[in-house]
Amino acid sequence: MSDLDTHATDIHEQFSDHLEVSVADVRQRLRTLVDEYKVPIDEARRSVTNHYLEEAGLDRDAISRGGSEAVQIEDVDEPEQWIDLTAKVIELWDPRSDAVAQVGLLGDPTGTIKFTKWAKSDLPALEEGQVYNLQNVVTDEYQGRYSVKLNSTTVIEAREEDLEVGDDTTDLGGALIDMQRGSGLIKRCPEEDCTRVLQNGRCSEHGEVDGEFDLRIKAVVDDGIDAHEVIFNKEATEELTGLTLAEAKEMAMDALDTTIVADEIAAKILGTYYRIEGPTFGRYVLADEFEELTGPADTERVLIKARSM
Ligand SMILES: [Zn+2]
Repeated sequence: MSDLDTHATDIHEQFSDHLEVSVADVRQRLRTLVDEYKVPIDEARRSVTNHYLEEAGLDRDAISRGGSEAVQIEDVDEPEQWIDLTAKVIELWDPRSDAVAQVGLLGDPTGTIKFTKWAKSDLPALEEGQVYNLQNVVTDEYQGRYSVKLNSTTVIEAREEDLEVGDDTTDLGGALIDMQRGSGLIKRCPEEDCTRVLQNGRCSEHGEVDGEFDLRIKAVVDDGIDAHEVIFNKEATEELTGLTLAEAKEMAMDALDTTIVADEIAAKILGTYYRIEGPTFGRYVLADEFEELTGPADTERVLIKARSM
């Protein structure tokens, strides 16, 4: 089955009890978005799901795939999965929206993950330091960071025993072999709490907006065993490249082209060896600390390998 077929079947399964809709209808909607509008498949899936939710007059919470799977936090690597977690509430944060009852950080021996509990789900309050079985939570992803959402179908059960929370810091040393799209001078959505990276001046949530400039690098670092995806935020990018956001903006304005910034950065860092340390969020390592290493002189081999990936 193609990717599209799999997604279409999944979505159809979610709505088959609620709507008269065929797999072919779902597939057609996905195909239109993906082929004609060049929307990434994940976004197309969300958009089509939302369409059917609206048509059925349902909340997203009402659509449970049933049969959630018990997993550990480090195994969360896909959005929209229904899972069970046994985790400790490490921290509670102040919700920034009335729609959110509680938000904070959960931990288990394999790592940590953000959680959100909707106000309308009407669930009991979680307490800091307490371990819970959380049945039927949904995974979500934003910029490579995963989170879980507690919803009205979630079953919360407090546990007697304590749980050791694992350190999810990654420490790696290797050659920076590639820079991914979306690196360099980017624009983010200015809406409160959004900060999504704009594609052609559009936010996937808020449409056309006046973006705010930011600097970021999404890099691939090869430690000789694995390729790791590493994100450098503005501060880290400025420190790594010696290029400030103001200078990057000026450079782009002079050239009437923002891609010049990514090219400049790539020329500086590709093939260079770094030691990088930082927390892991989903498949990304966030570069909190880093230093340049005097790596093997054989950068040619590394770059050949990069091109073959
Ligand atoms: Zn937005």
